[in-house]
Amino acid sequence: MDMQTSFLDRLFESGLLIDTGIDGLYGRSGQFEDVIAAFERLIDRFGGADGAEAMRFPPGMNRAFFEKSGYMKSFPQLAGTVHSFCGSELDHVSLLQCMEVGEDWTKGQEATDIVLTPAACYPLYPTIAKRGNLPKTGGLFDLQSYCFRHEPSKDPARQQLFRMREYICMGTEQHVTDFRQRWMDRGVEMMKAVGLDVTIDVANDPFFGRAGKMLANNQRDQNLKFELLIPITSAANPTACMSFNYHQDAFGTKWGLNLEDGSVAHTACVGFGLERIALALFHHHGLDVKQWPASVRKALWG
Ligand code: ATP
Ligand code: ZN
Ligand code: MG
Repeated sequence: MDMQTSFLDRLFESGLLIDTGIDGLYGRSGQFEDVIAAFERLIDRFGGADGAEAMRFPPGMNRAFFEKSGYMKSFPQLAGTVHSFCGSELDHVSLLQCMEVGEDWTKGQEATDIVLTPAACYPLYPTIAKRGNLPKTGGLFDLQSYCFRHEPSKDPARQQLFRMREYICMGTEQHVTDFRQRWMDRGVEMMKAVGLDVTIDVANDPFFGRAGKMLANNQRDQNLKFELLIPITSAANPTACMSFNYHQDAFGTKWGLNLEDGSVAHTACVGFGLERIALALFHHHGLDVKQWPASVRKALWG
């Protein structure tokens, strides 16, 4: 049995995660949720004075916006679409027959107007573009959403439905890169406050296919993505618990996000992987929260 399976098994045995029979799809105990809630309050304390506008979207988004985002060009392997039965009574009869004999009943399902949200910030850009030009001060937003990614794994830190807390900044290049740097510094400070050792490294997204390799190299070479890494299931391959992304003017151009003077906005987003942070805490301080170091408990619960 490898390390990953055993940490996952211990999480199941302790009840912190609840097995659903699907890799990467877990229920969470009240205790697990309490850790996430406490960490989110810590995020609020660090980011609260910045005056971000809070919004919460459900874990599904407008399919038209998803299509326009280009997600299927870059990450078709991760996307999840919502399909429904839209047929007649006759179709219903054949659907049930199909299920009865154990054939694939999902073939007749039709795409709805909703797809599962792949990253918390995706519904934001078209929403803000609709408002017209950004104010002089730019835009700063606070989002949190369940996100779906089709990447089943035995690694408890790689889930298919997980929560991402994000801050998104829109403005000039200087404005949004300062924002990103500020959160890199804060991220290190926050993790230190809860007793976690971190490293920050340049990173890339898993762009699909051979053409994707070039996109990934380009993203790295230009330092567009950084990750805050904490060892969870492997010391050699620490897990990304936060990411810091600079999109240049790519999203501004795509969505028509403009500044007060009409120039295209640059954007950046900072994401916290909430389940991963909770798992890092349980991995480092033990599965029993009552036994965690006093300083860590104080940082989380006051
Ligand atoms: P990884 O390289 O581990 O796949 P990522 O680069 O895909 O991570 P992002 O797309 O930047 O991650 O997502 C923002 C944050 O969401 C990550 O920093 C991480 O903490 C969290 N996250 C991403 N994928 C998952 C997942 N499958 N399960 C749990 N958390 C995740
Ligand atoms: Zn984002
Ligand atoms: Mg990934």
